[in-house]
Amino acid sequence: NKERIVTNDEVYQMDRDHVFHSWSVQGQLNPLVIEGAKGCKLWDYQGKEYLDFSSQLVNINIGYQHPKVVAAIHQQVDKLAMIAPSTANLARGEAAQRILAHAPDVFKKVFFTNAGADANENAMRLARLFTGRTKILSGYRSYHGNTGSAIVATGDPRRIPNEYAQGHAHFFQPYLYRSEFFADDESQECQRALTHLRHLISAEGPQSIAAILLETIPGTAGILVPPEGYLQGVRQLCDEFGIVLILDEVMAGFGRTGSWFAFEQFGIVPDLVTFAKGVNSGYVPAGGVLISEAIAAYFNDHYFPGGLTYSGHPLAMAAIVATLDAMDEEKVVEHAAMIGREILAPQLHQLATRHEMIGDVRGCGVFWAIELVSDKNLRTPLADDQMAAIKADLLSAGLLPFIAGNRIHIVPPCVITPDEVEAGLSILDAVLTKHAL
Ligand code: PLP
Repeated sequence: NKERIVTNDEVYQMDRDHVFHSWSVQGQLNPLVIEGAKGCKLWDYQGKEYLDFSSQLVNINIGYQHPKVVAAIHQQVDKLAMIAPSTANLARGEAAQRILAHAPDVFKKVFFTNAGADANENAMRLARLFTGRTKILSGYRSYHGNTGSAIVATGDPRRIPNEYAQGHAHFFQPYLYRSEFFADDESQECQRALTHLRHLISAEGPQSIAAILLETIPGTAGILVPPEGYLQGVRQLCDEFGIVLILDEVMAGFGRTGSWFAFEQFGIVPDLVTFAKGVNSGYVPAGGVLISEAIAAYFNDHYFPGGLTYSGHPLAMAAIVATLDAMDEEKVVEHAAMIGREILAPQLHQLATRHEMIGDVRGCGVFWAIELVSDKNLRTPLADDQMAAIKADLLSAGLLPFIAGNRIHIVPPCVITPDEVEAGLSILDAVLTKHAL
């Protein structure tokens, strides 16, 4: 039973020979080899360590290998590793109960999915059935998932209630740093973005619009914290025209922004909330939709034509229960808020005063972005090859970054310690100094 010696090269080569990767030109890949991780640190087979400022795809909110979550998955595996969604199961019931306990009172039910994309698919389906309308409006600056048309391609009759004749329209959300509305300040940006949305609703025909789907704080698009009043304005437009408001909290939810749900910080309550990632940090894949009382009640006597073999998978559910309990016990959400308020906010703004290259800083909790520019006045995004060089230097200095376009997203696990944040920021500072304009 001698333990096999594994090397970085062997793992790298096996991956390159056999694994087909997401979002990539396969011949241009250079995947990072990782053997293991604990807390906020990862390492490879040669013992090289990385401090995580990415939370992978912004999902490891509770950190790697949290002992309580790992133990709960072990216990559930021993008890019951899989059971169909049509059964009643303790782990599933408890997971739904725990999630609802952290949400406003209007939410009464949870529909479980495998991940974030199918959470959004099902939220749109719920909104379409509830309103009897078909169109979905969503922001240009968003990411909602990568599923396609599986149900429409389906041949059996389950296809029919899902064959929508009309689809999607998009609108611009507020983003003052690169305003579409020629705005000079947040208040103008907010008002003009709301006027634009009102015009779009009118042009698309309010009677045909089932839902507005928005990330509460668009994440991959650049951590675009909406200005004061914007989401309240969207809520009012939804109420005025009988449109369902779906907030996508797949990335922003479960502590990332320093509150359980990001929408709590904007004084509004949506009709449907989609979640995934942070709900159990992805230890076992899971997502879902929180359903308001009114929409849940409609489906008490109307058929819901949707489902997934692994909806409410017991291992994922046990991981949710343990994750939310541990986050409560260890005050992980409060900790994320403190890290944002006391360390990341002041230090990132400070960094921007010293680096000509940082054009904008925005965020909250452990959800921040800095925009890198080659000309601060013109706000010219830093070129891709320079971003790639910065990424390579951050990695070789032992910091795992999340880079999107010309931005570095600072999105560590919610449990990161003040010392770890300081260590990561000093690596960032040194690398930006090396690449100074
Ligand atoms: N919604 C948001 C806001 C996301 O950030 C993501 C993934 O990054 C998704 C949906 C899709 O989630 P998944 O990759 O779990 O399908």
